[in-house]
Amino acid sequence: MGLIPYKNEPGLDWSDEANVKAMRAALEEVGDSLARNYPAIIGGERIEVDGEIVSVNPANPSQVIGRVAAASEREADMALEIATSTFESWSRTAPEARARILLRAAAIMRRRKFEMLAWHVHEGAPPWAEADAQLAEAIDFLEYYAREMLRLKDGVEIYSVPGEESRYFYQPMGVGVIIAPWNFPVAILTGMSSAAIVTGNTIVMKPSEYTSVLGAKVAEIFEEAGLPKGVLNFCPGYGSEIGDYLVTDARTRFISFTGSVKTGLRINGLAARQIENQRWIKRALVETGGKDAMIIDDSADLDAAAQDLVTSAYGYAGQKCSAASRAILHADVYDEVLAKVVEKAKALKVGVPAEGGVDVGMGPVISEPQFEKVAGYIEVGKEEGERLLGEDPGDPAEGYFVSPTLFEVDPEARVAQEEIFGPVLSVIQARDFADALRIANDNPYGLTGGVYSKNRDHLELARHELRAGNVYFNRKITGALVGVQPFGGFGMSGTDSKAGGPDYLPLHMLARTVVERF
Ligand code: NAD
Repeated sequence: MGLIPYKNEPGLDWSDEANVKAMRAALEEVGDSLARNYPAIIGGERIEVDGEIVSVNPANPSQVIGRVAAASEREADMALEIATSTFESWSRTAPEARARILLRAAAIMRRRKFEMLAWHVHEGAPPWAEADAQLAEAIDFLEYYAREMLRLKDGVEIYSVPGEESRYFYQPMGVGVIIAPWNFPVAILTGMSSAAIVTGNTIVMKPSEYTSVLGAKVAEIFEEAGLPKGVLNFCPGYGSEIGDYLVTDARTRFISFTGSVKTGLRINGLAARQIENQRWIKRALVETGGKDAMIIDDSADLDAAAQDLVTSAYGYAGQKCSAASRAILHADVYDEVLAKVVEKAKALKVGVPAEGGVDVGMGPVISEPQFEKVAGYIEVGKEEGERLLGEDPGDPAEGYFVSPTLFEVDPEARVAQEEIFGPVLSVIQARDFADALRIANDNPYGLTGGVYSKNRDHLELARHELRAGNVYFNRKITGALVGVQPFGGFGMSGTDSKAGGPDYLPLHMLARTVVERF
Protein backbone atom coordinates (compact mmCIF):
# COMPACT_ATOMS: atom_id res chain seq x y z
CA MET A 1 0.00 0.00 0.00
CA GLY A 2 1.49 3.35 -0.97
CA LEU A 3 0.79 5.47 2.06
CA ILE A 4 2.15 8.91 2.81
CA PRO A 5 4.51 8.86 5.80
CA TYR A 6 2.88 9.00 9.21
CA LYS A 7 2.55 12.39 10.82
CA ASN A 8 0.57 13.62 13.80
CA GLU A 9 -2.82 15.18 13.18
CA PRO A 10 -2.43 18.95 13.71
CA GLY A 11 -4.51 20.72 16.34
CA LEU A 12 -7.12 23.26 15.32
CA ASP A 13 -6.07 26.89 15.34
CA TRP A 14 -8.49 28.51 17.76
CA SER A 15 -7.30 32.00 16.87
CA ASP A 16 -9.00 31.40 13.53
CA GLU A 17 -12.54 32.71 13.91
CA ALA A 18 -13.82 30.18 11.35
CA ASN A 19 -12.91 27.30 13.70
CA VAL A 20 -14.59 29.00 16.66
CA LYS A 21 -17.73 29.52 14.56
CA ALA A 22 -17.71 25.92 13.35
CA MET A 23 -17.36 24.70 16.93
CA ARG A 24 -20.24 26.87 18.17
CA ALA A 25 -22.42 25.63 15.31
CA ALA A 26 -21.54 22.00 16.11
CA LEU A 27 -22.28 22.53 19.80
CA GLU A 28 -25.68 23.90 18.91
CA GLU A 29 -26.45 21.10 16.50
CA VAL A 30 -25.39 18.43 18.97
CA GLY A 31 -27.32 20.32 21.64
CA ASP A 32 -30.45 19.65 19.59
CA SER A 33 -29.70 15.92 19.48
CA LEU A 34 -29.34 15.21 23.19
CA ALA A 35 -31.15 12.58 25.27
CA ARG A 36 -31.45 10.05 22.43
CA ASN A 37 -31.28 6.31 22.95
CA TYR A 38 -28.20 4.28 22.04
CA PRO A 39 -28.62 0.50 21.86
CA ALA A 40 -25.91 -2.12 22.09
CA ILE A 41 -24.62 -3.26 18.66
CA ILE A 42 -23.87 -6.97 18.53
CA GLY A 43 -23.12 -8.71 15.24
CA GLY A 44 -24.25 -5.53 13.51
CA GLU A 45 -27.72 -5.73 15.10
CA ARG A 46 -29.10 -2.97 17.31
CA ILE A 47 -30.07 -4.70 20.55
CA GLU A 48 -32.48 -3.04 22.95
CA VAL A 49 -31.91 -4.01 26.57
CA ASP A 50 -33.75 -3.45 29.82
CA GLY A 51 -31.02 -1.57 31.64
CA GLU A 52 -30.06 2.00 30.87
CA ILE A 53 -27.12 4.30 31.52
CA VAL A 54 -28.20 7.92 31.74
CA SER A 55 -25.21 9.96 30.68
CA VAL A 56 -25.21 13.57 31.90
CA ASN A 57 -23.20 16.72 31.34
CA PRO A 58 -20.73 17.07 34.25
CA ALA A 59 -20.98 20.87 33.99
CA ASN A 60 -24.75 20.67 34.30
CA PRO A 61 -25.82 17.29 35.71
CA SER A 62 -29.50 17.89 35.05
CA GLN A 63 -28.80 17.85 31.31
CA VAL A 64 -29.08 14.35 29.85
CA ILE A 65 -26.63 13.74 26.99
CA GLY A 66 -27.94 10.32 26.04
CA ARG A 67 -29.53 7.13 27.28
CA VAL A 68 -27.30 4.20 26.54
CA ALA A 69 -28.09 0.51 26.83
CA ALA A 70 -26.66 -1.02 30.00
CA ALA A 71 -25.83 -4.51 28.80
CA SER A 72 -26.46 -7.44 31.11
CA GLU A 73 -24.70 -10.81 31.14
CA ARG A 74 -27.14 -11.92 28.43
CA GLU A 75 -25.84 -9.32 25.97
CA ALA A 76 -22.26 -9.87 27.11
CA ASP A 77 -22.73 -13.55 26.29
CA MET A 78 -24.17 -12.73 22.85
CA ALA A 79 -21.28 -10.37 22.14
CA LEU A 80 -18.68 -13.01 23.09
CA GLU A 81 -20.47 -15.62 20.97
CA ILE A 82 -20.62 -13.44 17.85
CA ALA A 83 -17.04 -12.23 18.36
CA THR A 84 -15.92 -15.87 18.59
CA SER A 85 -17.62 -16.91 15.36
CA THR A 86 -16.56 -13.75 13.46
CA PHE A 87 -12.93 -14.38 14.44
CA GLU A 88 -12.85 -17.25 11.91
CA SER A 89 -13.24 -14.89 8.95
CA TRP A 90 -11.71 -11.68 10.31
CA SER A 91 -8.49 -13.38 11.39
CA ARG A 92 -8.09 -14.59 7.79
CA THR A 93 -8.82 -11.18 6.26
CA ALA A 94 -5.73 -9.65 4.63
CA PRO A 95 -3.83 -7.26 6.93
CA GLU A 96 -3.97 -4.61 4.18
CA ALA A 97 -7.78 -4.81 4.14
CA ARG A 98 -7.86 -4.53 7.93
CA ALA A 99 -5.53 -1.52 7.83
CA ARG A 100 -7.72 0.16 5.22
CA ILE A 101 -10.66 0.15 7.62
CA LEU A 102 -8.58 2.09 10.15
CA LEU A 103 -7.52 4.62 7.53
CA ARG A 104 -11.12 5.08 6.53
CA ALA A 105 -12.19 5.50 10.15
CA ALA A 106 -9.48 8.19 10.52
CA ALA A 107 -10.84 10.00 7.46
CA ILE A 108 -14.36 9.88 8.90
CA MET A 109 -13.16 11.26 12.24
CA ARG A 110 -11.46 14.12 10.39
CA ARG A 111 -14.63 14.85 8.44
CA ARG A 112 -16.78 14.68 11.56
CA LYS A 113 -14.24 16.53 13.72
CA PHE A 114 -16.37 19.41 15.00
CA GLU A 115 -19.34 17.14 15.60
CA MET A 116 -17.17 14.71 17.62
CA LEU A 117 -15.62 17.59 19.59
CA ALA A 118 -19.07 18.91 20.38
CA TRP A 119 -20.24 15.53 21.69
CA HIS A 120 -17.11 15.32 23.82
CA VAL A 121 -17.54 18.83 25.22
CA HIS A 122 -21.14 17.99 26.13
CA GLU A 123 -20.51 14.56 27.65
CA GLY A 124 -17.06 14.93 29.25
CA ALA A 125 -16.84 18.74 29.54
CA PRO A 126 -13.15 19.15 28.64
CA PRO A 127 -11.94 22.53 27.36
CA TRP A 128 -12.20 22.77 23.57
CA ALA A 129 -8.46 22.54 22.94
CA GLU A 130 -8.29 19.41 25.13
CA ALA A 131 -11.11 17.74 23.19
CA ASP A 132 -9.34 18.65 19.95
CA ALA A 133 -6.01 17.22 21.14
CA GLN A 134 -7.76 14.00 22.17
CA LEU A 135 -9.55 13.62 18.84
CA ALA A 136 -6.24 14.21 17.06
CA GLU A 137 -4.81 11.41 19.20
CA ALA A 138 -7.62 9.06 18.15
CA ILE A 139 -6.92 9.84 14.48
CA ASP A 140 -3.21 9.32 15.11
CA PHE A 141 -3.82 5.88 16.64
CA LEU A 142 -5.77 4.83 13.55
CA GLU A 143 -3.16 6.13 11.12
CA TYR A 144 -0.21 4.79 13.13
CA TYR A 145 -1.56 1.31 13.84
CA ALA A 146 -2.62 0.90 10.20
CA ARG A 147 1.01 1.53 9.19
CA GLU A 148 2.36 -0.61 12.01
CA MET A 149 0.27 -3.54 10.79
CA LEU A 150 1.70 -3.14 7.29
CA ARG A 151 5.20 -3.10 8.79
CA LEU A 152 4.57 -6.29 10.75
CA LYS A 153 2.31 -8.25 8.37
CA ASP A 154 5.06 -10.54 7.07
CA GLY A 155 6.79 -10.90 10.42
CA VAL A 156 10.29 -9.75 11.28
CA GLU A 157 13.76 -10.91 10.23
CA ILE A 158 15.52 -13.62 12.21
CA TYR A 159 18.50 -15.83 11.30
CA SER A 160 18.43 -19.31 9.79
CA VAL A 161 21.00 -22.12 10.11
CA PRO A 162 22.49 -23.50 6.85
CA GLY A 163 20.04 -25.83 5.04
CA GLU A 164 16.99 -24.45 6.82
CA GLU A 165 14.68 -21.50 6.58
CA SER A 166 13.39 -19.96 9.79
CA ARG A 167 10.45 -17.57 9.66
CA TYR A 168 9.04 -15.53 12.50
CA PHE A 169 5.63 -13.97 12.04
CA TYR A 170 2.55 -12.96 13.92
CA GLN A 171 -1.02 -14.12 13.85
CA PRO A 172 -4.22 -12.92 15.53
CA MET A 173 -5.07 -14.16 19.02
CA GLY A 174 -8.85 -14.35 19.36
CA VAL A 175 -11.55 -12.40 21.14
CA GLY A 176 -10.41 -9.29 22.98
CA VAL A 177 -12.39 -7.48 25.66
CA ILE A 178 -11.69 -3.75 25.49
CA ILE A 179 -12.43 -1.85 28.68
CA ALA A 180 -11.86 1.89 28.58
CA PRO A 181 -11.87 4.84 31.00
CA TRP A 182 -13.84 8.08 30.62
CA ASN A 183 -10.98 10.53 30.63
CA PHE A 184 -9.89 9.86 27.02
CA PRO A 185 -13.28 8.57 25.91
CA VAL A 186 -12.56 8.71 22.18
CA ALA A 187 -8.77 8.47 21.99
CA ILE A 188 -8.07 5.55 24.34
CA LEU A 189 -11.18 3.63 23.28
CA THR A 190 -10.24 4.07 19.62
CA GLY A 191 -6.58 3.25 20.27
CA MET A 192 -7.19 0.04 22.20
CA SER A 193 -9.95 -1.10 19.84
CA SER A 194 -8.12 -0.32 16.59
CA ALA A 195 -4.94 -2.08 17.72
CA ALA A 196 -6.93 -5.22 18.54
CA ILE A 197 -8.91 -5.11 15.29
CA VAL A 198 -6.10 -4.34 12.86
CA THR A 199 -4.14 -7.30 14.20
CA GLY A 200 -7.02 -9.59 13.20
CA ASN A 201 -8.86 -10.02 16.48
CA THR A 202 -12.54 -9.48 17.13
CA ILE A 203 -13.64 -7.45 20.11
CA VAL A 204 -16.25 -6.75 22.71
CA MET A 205 -15.99 -3.02 23.30
CA LYS A 206 -17.04 -1.62 26.67
CA PRO A 207 -16.70 2.15 27.09
CA SER A 208 -16.87 3.84 30.47
CA GLU A 209 -20.38 4.29 31.82
CA TYR A 210 -19.68 8.05 32.09
CA THR A 211 -18.92 8.49 28.39
CA SER A 212 -21.00 5.81 26.72
CA VAL A 213 -22.52 8.17 24.13
CA LEU A 214 -19.01 8.87 22.84
CA GLY A 215 -18.45 5.11 22.87
CA ALA A 216 -21.51 4.71 20.64
CA LYS A 217 -20.11 7.37 18.28
CA VAL A 218 -16.80 5.50 18.00
CA ALA A 219 -18.63 2.23 17.28
CA GLU A 220 -20.71 4.05 14.65
CA ILE A 221 -17.55 5.38 12.95
CA PHE A 222 -16.02 1.90 12.65
CA GLU A 223 -19.32 0.70 11.19
CA GLU A 224 -19.36 3.61 8.70
CA ALA A 225 -15.77 2.75 7.80
CA GLY A 226 -16.95 -0.67 6.60
CA LEU A 227 -15.84 -2.91 9.44
CA PRO A 228 -17.66 -6.24 8.91
CA LYS A 229 -20.47 -7.02 11.32
CA GLY A 230 -19.41 -8.89 14.43
CA VAL A 231 -15.79 -7.69 14.47
CA LEU A 232 -16.57 -4.88 16.90
CA ASN A 233 -19.40 -5.65 19.29
CA PHE A 234 -20.48 -2.55 21.17
CA CYS A 235 -21.42 -3.65 24.64
CA PRO A 236 -21.88 -0.61 26.90
CA GLY A 237 -22.60 -1.30 30.53
CA TYR A 238 -21.57 -0.93 34.12
CA GLY A 239 -18.21 -2.45 34.94
CA SER A 240 -19.62 -3.75 38.20
CA GLU A 241 -22.39 -5.63 36.34
CA ILE A 242 -20.70 -7.15 33.27
CA GLY A 243 -16.97 -6.58 33.85
CA ASP A 244 -16.25 -9.80 35.73
CA TYR A 245 -18.35 -11.82 33.30
CA LEU A 246 -16.47 -10.55 30.25
CA VAL A 247 -13.06 -10.97 31.85
CA THR A 248 -13.69 -14.43 33.29
CA ASP A 249 -15.42 -16.07 30.33
CA ALA A 250 -13.53 -18.92 28.65
CA ARG A 251 -14.07 -17.39 25.19
CA THR A 252 -12.10 -14.28 26.12
CA ARG A 253 -8.55 -14.57 24.81
CA PHE A 254 -7.20 -11.23 26.02
CA ILE A 255 -8.26 -8.11 27.89
CA SER A 256 -7.07 -4.63 27.04
CA PHE A 257 -7.85 -2.38 29.96
CA THR A 258 -7.11 1.22 30.86
CA GLY A 259 -8.45 2.61 34.11
CA SER A 260 -7.82 2.64 37.84
CA VAL A 261 -5.29 0.41 39.54
CA LYS A 262 -8.02 -1.12 41.69
CA THR A 263 -10.01 -2.36 38.67
CA GLY A 264 -6.84 -3.24 36.81
CA LEU A 265 -5.61 -5.53 39.58
CA ARG A 266 -8.99 -7.18 39.83
CA ILE A 267 -8.98 -7.87 36.09
CA ASN A 268 -5.41 -9.15 36.23
CA GLY A 269 -6.35 -11.54 39.06
CA LEU A 270 -9.51 -12.84 37.41
CA ALA A 271 -7.78 -13.24 34.05
CA ALA A 272 -5.12 -15.43 35.64
CA ARG A 273 -7.63 -18.16 36.56
CA GLN A 274 -8.35 -21.09 34.30
CA ILE A 275 -12.00 -22.02 34.08
CA GLU A 276 -13.73 -24.94 32.43
CA ASN A 277 -13.17 -25.17 28.66
CA GLN A 278 -10.52 -22.48 28.74
CA ARG A 279 -7.65 -23.39 26.43
CA TRP A 280 -5.19 -20.57 26.91
CA ILE A 281 -3.54 -18.35 29.46
CA LYS A 282 -5.30 -15.04 28.97
CA ARG A 283 -3.22 -12.02 28.22
CA ALA A 284 -4.07 -8.89 30.19
CA LEU A 285 -2.83 -5.50 29.10
CA VAL A 286 -3.49 -3.37 32.14
CA GLU A 287 -2.70 0.35 32.08
CA THR A 288 -3.56 2.23 35.24
CA GLY A 289 -3.05 5.40 37.26
CA GLY A 290 -0.25 7.71 38.21
CA LYS A 291 1.07 10.06 40.85
CA ASP A 292 3.32 11.95 38.53
CA ALA A 293 6.13 14.17 39.75
CA MET A 294 7.77 17.22 38.24
CA ILE A 295 11.13 18.18 39.71
CA ILE A 296 12.15 21.82 39.39
CA ASP A 297 15.87 22.21 39.92
CA ASP A 298 17.70 25.35 41.05
CA SER A 299 19.10 25.94 37.54
CA ALA A 300 15.72 25.73 35.77
CA ASP A 301 14.06 28.41 33.68
CA LEU A 302 11.59 29.16 36.44
CA ASP A 303 8.93 30.93 34.38
CA ALA A 304 8.73 28.14 31.82
CA ALA A 305 8.81 25.53 34.59
CA ALA A 306 5.96 27.17 36.49
CA GLN A 307 3.86 27.49 33.32
CA ASP A 308 4.39 23.87 32.29
CA LEU A 309 3.70 22.70 35.82
CA VAL A 310 0.37 24.55 35.85
CA THR A 311 -0.54 23.14 32.43
CA SER A 312 0.44 19.60 33.49
CA ALA A 313 -1.36 19.80 36.83
CA TYR A 314 -4.57 21.64 36.04
CA GLY A 315 -5.18 21.16 32.32
CA TYR A 316 -8.37 19.07 31.97
CA ALA A 317 -8.89 19.52 35.73
CA GLY A 318 -6.01 17.18 36.50
CA GLN A 319 -7.93 14.23 35.09
CA LYS A 320 -5.06 12.71 33.17
CA CYS A 321 -3.11 9.70 34.28
CA SER A 322 -0.09 11.74 33.18
CA ALA A 323 -1.05 14.88 35.13
CA ALA A 324 1.52 16.42 37.45
CA SER A 325 0.24 15.88 40.96
CA ARG A 326 3.53 16.25 42.84
CA ALA A 327 5.72 19.32 42.37
CA ILE A 328 9.13 18.72 43.90
CA LEU A 329 10.96 22.03 44.17
CA HIS A 330 14.62 22.63 44.97
CA ALA A 331 14.84 24.55 48.27
CA ASP A 332 16.78 27.45 46.69
CA VAL A 333 14.00 28.26 44.23
CA TYR A 334 11.06 26.99 46.27
CA ASP A 335 9.43 30.32 47.19
CA GLU A 336 9.95 31.86 43.77
CA VAL A 337 8.47 28.91 41.87
CA LEU A 338 5.57 28.62 44.26
CA ALA A 339 4.66 32.29 43.81
CA LYS A 340 4.72 31.90 40.03
CA VAL A 341 2.63 28.71 40.13
CA VAL A 342 -0.02 30.32 42.34
CA GLU A 343 -0.18 33.36 40.08
CA LYS A 344 -0.51 31.33 36.88
CA ALA A 345 -3.03 28.88 38.36
CA LYS A 346 -5.18 31.79 39.57
CA ALA A 347 -5.29 33.10 36.01
CA LEU A 348 -6.91 29.88 34.74
CA LYS A 349 -10.50 30.45 33.72
CA VAL A 350 -12.73 27.79 35.26
CA GLY A 351 -16.07 27.50 33.49
CA VAL A 352 -18.56 25.54 31.41
CA PRO A 353 -16.74 24.54 28.23
CA ALA A 354 -19.91 24.20 26.13
CA GLU A 355 -20.91 27.77 26.92
CA GLY A 356 -17.73 29.58 27.87
CA GLY A 357 -15.90 29.04 24.60
CA VAL A 358 -12.27 28.58 23.86
CA ASP A 359 -11.02 30.67 26.80
CA VAL A 360 -12.20 28.19 29.41
CA GLY A 361 -9.01 26.61 30.69
CA MET A 362 -10.59 24.19 33.12
CA GLY A 363 -13.99 22.53 33.28
CA PRO A 364 -15.57 20.33 35.97
CA VAL A 365 -14.51 16.84 37.01
CA ILE A 366 -16.39 14.00 35.36
CA SER A 367 -18.93 12.71 37.86
CA GLU A 368 -20.45 12.98 41.29
CA PRO A 369 -18.40 10.07 42.73
CA GLN A 370 -15.25 11.69 41.35
CA PHE A 371 -16.31 15.07 42.75
CA GLU A 372 -16.88 13.49 46.19
CA LYS A 373 -13.53 11.73 46.02
CA VAL A 374 -11.64 14.93 45.16
CA ALA A 375 -13.58 16.89 47.81
CA GLY A 376 -12.62 14.20 50.35
CA TYR A 377 -8.95 14.52 49.46
CA ILE A 378 -9.18 18.31 49.84
CA GLU A 379 -10.30 17.73 53.43
CA VAL A 380 -7.40 15.31 53.95
CA GLY A 381 -4.97 17.85 52.46
CA LYS A 382 -6.18 20.57 54.80
CA GLU A 383 -5.30 18.31 57.73
CA GLU A 384 -1.98 17.24 56.33
CA GLY A 385 -0.53 20.55 55.18
CA GLU A 386 -1.28 24.09 54.18
CA ARG A 387 -3.67 24.95 51.37
CA LEU A 388 -2.04 27.72 49.35
CA LEU A 389 -4.66 27.86 46.66
CA GLY A 390 -8.23 26.66 46.16
CA GLU A 391 -11.61 26.76 47.84
CA ASP A 392 -13.93 24.14 49.22
CA PRO A 393 -15.96 22.69 46.34
CA GLY A 394 -19.55 23.95 45.99
CA ASP A 395 -22.83 22.20 45.33
CA PRO A 396 -22.36 19.30 42.90
CA ALA A 397 -25.93 19.73 41.63
CA GLU A 398 -24.64 22.87 39.90
CA GLY A 399 -21.81 21.05 38.15
CA TYR A 400 -18.89 19.04 39.43
CA PHE A 401 -16.53 22.03 39.70
CA VAL A 402 -13.39 22.02 41.81
CA SER A 403 -11.08 25.03 41.74
CA PRO A 404 -7.33 24.62 41.18
CA THR A 405 -5.96 23.53 44.54
CA LEU A 406 -2.43 23.52 45.90
CA PHE A 407 -1.17 21.96 49.10
CA GLU A 408 2.22 22.41 50.72
CA VAL A 409 2.92 19.03 52.33
CA ASP A 410 5.53 16.48 53.35
CA PRO A 411 6.33 13.76 50.81
CA GLU A 412 4.58 11.09 52.92
CA ALA A 413 1.24 12.94 53.02
CA ARG A 414 -1.63 10.95 51.54
CA VAL A 415 -2.39 13.76 49.10
CA ALA A 416 1.21 13.45 47.90
CA GLN A 417 1.11 9.65 47.65
CA GLU A 418 -2.34 8.62 46.37
CA GLU A 419 -3.88 9.30 42.98
CA ILE A 420 -6.62 11.95 43.38
CA PHE A 421 -7.41 12.53 39.71
CA GLY A 422 -8.55 16.10 40.09
CA PRO A 423 -7.05 19.61 40.06
CA VAL A 424 -5.08 19.08 43.25
CA LEU A 425 -1.31 19.57 43.27
CA SER A 426 0.97 18.77 46.20
CA VAL A 427 4.12 20.84 46.56
CA ILE A 428 7.11 19.34 48.31
CA GLN A 429 10.43 20.93 49.16
CA ALA A 430 13.68 19.07 48.39
CA ARG A 431 17.12 19.83 49.86
CA ASP A 432 18.95 19.24 46.59
CA PHE A 433 18.58 17.33 43.33
CA ALA A 434 19.43 13.94 44.81
CA ASP A 435 16.79 14.48 47.47
CA ALA A 436 14.27 15.52 44.79
CA LEU A 437 14.95 12.35 42.80
CA ARG A 438 14.59 10.21 45.92
CA ILE A 439 11.23 11.83 46.75
CA ALA A 440 10.01 11.44 43.16
CA ASN A 441 10.88 7.72 43.15
CA ASP A 442 9.35 7.04 46.56
CA ASN A 443 5.91 6.16 45.19
CA PRO A 444 4.40 2.92 43.90
CA TYR A 445 3.23 4.48 40.64
CA GLY A 446 5.59 5.21 37.76
CA LEU A 447 3.73 6.64 34.81
CA THR A 448 5.13 10.04 33.83
CA GLY A 449 7.77 12.23 35.41
CA GLY A 450 9.54 15.43 34.53
CA VAL A 451 12.63 17.42 35.33
CA TYR A 452 13.18 21.10 34.73
CA SER A 453 16.93 21.76 34.91
CA LYS A 454 19.87 23.20 32.97
CA ASN A 455 22.31 20.92 34.77
CA ARG A 456 23.48 18.27 32.27
CA ASP A 457 24.61 15.83 35.00
CA HIS A 458 21.22 16.02 36.69
CA LEU A 459 19.38 15.38 33.44
CA GLU A 460 21.60 12.40 32.60
CA LEU A 461 21.05 10.97 36.07
CA ALA A 462 17.28 11.38 35.79
CA ARG A 463 17.28 9.89 32.26
CA HIS A 464 18.01 6.51 33.84
CA GLU A 465 17.07 6.88 37.49
CA LEU A 466 13.71 8.69 37.47
CA ARG A 467 11.38 5.72 37.76
CA ALA A 468 8.64 6.35 35.21
CA GLY A 469 7.58 4.99 31.84
CA ASN A 470 7.50 8.44 30.26
CA VAL A 471 10.12 10.97 31.33
CA TYR A 472 10.13 14.53 30.04
CA PHE A 473 12.82 17.18 30.41
CA ASN A 474 12.19 20.94 30.31
CA ARG A 475 8.62 20.66 29.06
CA LYS A 476 5.15 19.65 30.22
CA ILE A 477 4.61 16.01 31.15
CA THR A 478 1.15 15.53 29.60
CA GLY A 479 -0.10 15.14 26.02
CA ALA A 480 1.94 12.18 24.72
CA LEU A 481 1.93 12.06 20.92
CA VAL A 482 1.23 8.79 19.12
CA GLY A 483 4.31 7.45 17.36
CA VAL A 484 6.45 10.14 19.00
CA GLN A 485 6.04 9.54 22.74
CA PRO A 486 4.89 5.91 23.17
CA PHE A 487 2.94 5.86 26.41
CA GLY A 488 2.74 3.49 29.37
CA GLY A 489 3.89 3.19 32.95
CA PHE A 490 6.08 1.25 35.36
CA GLY A 491 5.26 -0.09 38.81
CA MET A 492 1.59 0.11 39.77
CA SER A 493 0.94 2.29 36.71
CA GLY A 494 0.58 -0.73 34.50
CA THR A 495 2.13 -3.34 32.30
CA ASP A 496 3.99 -0.70 30.25
CA SER A 497 2.32 -1.73 27.02
CA LYS A 498 3.38 1.58 25.44
CA ALA A 499 0.36 2.66 23.41
CA GLY A 500 1.33 4.45 20.21
CA GLY A 501 4.71 2.75 20.06
CA PRO A 502 6.44 0.07 17.99
CA ASP A 503 5.96 -2.72 20.56
CA TYR A 504 2.21 -2.24 20.94
CA LEU A 505 0.69 -4.29 18.11
CA PRO A 506 2.66 -7.48 18.82
CA LEU A 507 1.01 -7.57 22.27
CA HIS A 508 -2.24 -8.33 20.41
CA MET A 509 -0.83 -11.21 18.40
CA LEU A 510 0.77 -14.61 18.80
CA ALA A 511 4.26 -14.90 17.44
CA ARG A 512 4.88 -18.06 15.43
CA THR A 513 8.22 -19.60 14.48
CA VAL A 514 8.18 -21.95 11.46
CA VAL A 515 11.32 -23.80 10.46
CA GLU A 516 11.67 -25.80 7.25
CA ARG A 517 14.63 -28.04 6.49
CA PHE A 518 15.49 -28.15 2.78
P1 NAD B 1 -12.17 2.66 36.46
O1 NAD B 1 -11.18 1.61 36.81
O2 NAD B 1 -13.17 3.06 37.46
O3 NAD B 1 -12.99 2.25 35.17
C1 NAD B 1 -12.34 1.91 33.96
C2 NAD B 1 -13.23 0.95 33.19
O4 NAD B 1 -13.30 -0.27 33.91
C3 NAD B 1 -14.65 1.43 32.99
O5 NAD B 1 -15.08 1.09 31.69
C4 NAD B 1 -15.41 0.63 34.02
O6 NAD B 1 -16.75 0.41 33.68
C5 NAD B 1 -14.65 -0.67 34.01
N1 NAD B 1 -14.82 -1.52 35.19
C6 NAD B 1 -15.16 -1.18 36.44
N2 NAD B 1 -15.21 -2.27 37.24
C7 NAD B 1 -14.90 -3.32 36.46
C8 NAD B 1 -14.76 -4.72 36.70
N3 NAD B 1 -14.95 -5.27 37.89
N4 NAD B 1 -14.39 -5.51 35.67
C9 NAD B 1 -14.16 -4.99 34.45
N5 NAD B 1 -14.29 -3.68 34.17
C10 NAD B 1 -14.65 -2.86 35.17
O7 NAD B 1 -11.30 3.93 35.98
P2 NAD B 1 -11.86 5.33 35.47
O8 NAD B 1 -12.28 6.14 36.63
O9 NAD B 1 -12.78 5.14 34.33
O10 NAD B 1 -10.53 5.96 34.85
C11 NAD B 1 -9.63 6.74 35.56
C12 NAD B 1 -8.37 5.94 35.84
O11 NAD B 1 -7.78 5.57 34.60
C13 NAD B 1 -7.32 6.72 36.57
O12 NAD B 1 -6.75 5.91 37.57
C14 NAD B 1 -6.31 7.05 35.48
O13 NAD B 1 -5.01 7.28 35.97
C15 NAD B 1 -6.39 5.83 34.64
N6 NAD B 1 -5.89 6.05 33.28
C16 NAD B 1 -4.70 5.46 32.92
C17 NAD B 1 -4.19 5.66 31.65
C18 NAD B 1 -2.90 5.02 31.21
O14 NAD B 1 -2.61 5.05 30.02
N7 NAD B 1 -2.14 4.43 32.11
C19 NAD B 1 -4.87 6.49 30.76
C20 NAD B 1 -6.08 7.06 31.17
C21 NAD B 1 -6.59 6.83 32.43
